[in-house]
Amino acid sequence: MKIGLLKETNDARVAIIPDFVKQLTKDNEVLVEPDAGRSSFFYDKDFEEAGAKVADRKTILGSVDLLITIHPIQKEELALMQKGCIYVSSFQPFADDTIAATLASYGITALSLDMIPRITIAQAMDVLSSMASIAGYKAVLKAAEYLPRYFPMLTTAAGSIPPSKVLILGAGVAGLQAIATAKRLGAMVEAFDTRLAAKEEVQSLGAKFVEVEGAQDDKSAGGYAVEQTEEYKQKQKELIHERISKADVVITTAQLRGKRAPLLITKEMVEDMRAGSVIVDLAASSGGNCELTKNNEIVIHNNITIIGNSELAAEMPMHASQLYSKNTQNFMNIFVKEGKAAFDFENPIIKSSCIVYEGEVK
Ligand code: NAD
Repeated sequence: MKIGLLKETNDARVAIIPDFVKQLTKDNEVLVEPDAGRSSFFYDKDFEEAGAKVADRKTILGSVDLLITIHPIQKEELALMQKGCIYVSSFQPFADDTIAATLASYGITALSLDMIPRITIAQAMDVLSSMASIAGYKAVLKAAEYLPRYFPMLTTAAGSIPPSKVLILGAGVAGLQAIATAKRLGAMVEAFDTRLAAKEEVQSLGAKFVEVEGAQDDKSAGGYAVEQTEEYKQKQKELIHERISKADVVITTAQLRGKRAPLLITKEMVEDMRAGSVIVDLAASSGGNCELTKNNEIVIHNNITIIGNSELAAEMPMHASQLYSKNTQNFMNIFVKEGKAAFDFENPIIKSSCIVYEGEVK
């Protein structure tokens, strides 16, 4: 098979790195767009040493049997692809309900990495987890950068410094990594989530779990959180308001799959925070957990800094690309064998991630 790797248009990461290319070129031809990995410090010569050929974007789009990108390419470029081509990317069909039909209209087979089920056997392929974990780590470093205070407790000749208080809203993959990072920096950390399973995980990292009673936890939601009742939301609002007014840093990661992110922090709550405090909203791209968040912007309101960024993984492009590539490798190993692709729809990972098969929406 001929496999193509493109340079991302607005992202410093690259979908696969030379290590994986080395495996692929045993049975396949790999074409790489010039400078595809340059921003993540994987250079053309590294890809060539791994057996790939550098080719221009149009040649790649028009000739490959399998294409890999992190973000889906534009419609105009889809038209350049060969009918029957396999395309691996994160199409987010839950957020964009026209994408599957668009891909199908070009007669391609589309595998969406964000649709890989959150099951144990698929953990090694889970790009959402790898990227969320980096985002959680980076969110704490960003907050530390903007915070006019120390994170750790310090006893100095000039006096004692109390530790910063960090509140994490949403203790999924990103939230747990944020807790671990804030703890390593010496902050006092508390967190909360609607999924009860998160309680033990939060406590095992040495943070306090803030509990709101009466949360709806639906096991059939595939590990994802579900929308809460009005009564719960009201109780949660009051508790967040109380905790937030004492926090120096708030990191929000709460998401509802395919829906707007839950609004957890109101303008009024922000106005009750201490001057100089920082909010990092990782749910910014799906509407934000804070009422004042602006996606991809830093807003200062009433002396509080609000950073809206859902793509923090891209700010650590070398390791992000390495993990993305390894996840993709583990995924492709289930359907690319000896230079050929074969799809077993009995496999739950293929069944869930293949959103279009040979031009037909699945
Ligand atoms: P996510 O990004 O969808 O959401 C982040 C967190 O926000 C979640 O923990 C969610 O419960 C929480 N949240 C949602 N609404 C909230 C609200 N109103 N208030 C407070 N918190 C709220 O989640 P994720 O990090 O992608 O993880 C989702 C689930 O998948 C978790 O159960 C995780 O353990 C599981 N998971 C499983 C695998 C696997 O087995 N392959 C891999 C990764 C994650």
